[in-house]
Amino acid sequence: MSTKLYFFECGTLKSQKHLFTLNKDVGKPFEVPVPFFLIQHNGKNILFDTGNALEVSQDAQKHWGDVISVYYPVMDEKQYVVNQLQELGIKPENIDYVILSHLHLDHAGGVGCFPNAKYIVHKKEREWAFSLECTQKTAYITKDIDKNIDWLELENEFEEEYDLFDDGAVQIYPTFGHTPGHISVLVQLQNSKSMFLTSDSCYTDENLNDNIPPGLVWDAEASIKTMNLIRKLQDEKNVEIIAGHDPFAWKRFKKAPQYYS
Ligand SMILES: [Zn+2]
Repeated sequence: MSTKLYFFECGTLKSQKHLFTLNKDVGKPFEVPVPFFLIQHNGKNILFDTGNALEVSQDAQKHWGDVISVYYPVMDEKQYVVNQLQELGIKPENIDYVILSHLHLDHAGGVGCFPNAKYIVHKKEREWAFSLECTQKTAYITKDIDKNIDWLELENEFEEEYDLFDDGAVQIYPTFGHTPGHISVLVQLQNSKSMFLTSDSCYTDENLNDNIPPGLVWDAEASIKTMNLIRKLQDEKNVEIIAGHDPFAWKRFKKAPQYYS
């Protein structure tokens, strides 16, 4: 069994701190990375999140609208997911799975760019993104995600992992709170600690250490339950926690073409 995990950055978002740590550091400027990840396991290529759409590097206002006044994207064309994979010699048709933590704009920009991929998303996330009750409409870009592709909708509940290959290598955890159908991924590695890619269930290490819900949160109580689960993985299973948008922690990680194995 061989597994490799690559970290990529699709530019940054210029924002404010309290939008990441609920009610804390109100108005303080805060610039965060926009990560996405590639897992290679037994000949399969799996993306976890996809960063921003290509159009964001060309005309962000046109593609994202007024939300750029709170999350201003800094991205050049080379940082688009397809172009970064090309640098590694990976073509769009070589991607087998795209796991989407959730469908917000800085995670789902590459949906539809991988013709042979199954797109894994939680059923509750797709329902929320398109529902009239959705209170986060500006964070979902309909033209990015309303696509006729091969969707695989998970229906597992909190504390029910979905083991993608039935060998423990890639396990998908419901981590609800930031959105109703948010999921995270545990990647089991041989030569490094296993890594839990939280995405936006835990924006920064500060959210985890001080038990602060994400600044943008659908259900704060669910978010706290999720962070308890993440701490359990950290403490009891010796898993390394990779927060979703932590500008300080992000500097410490190896980036593609380097990888963890
Ligand atoms: Zn995000």
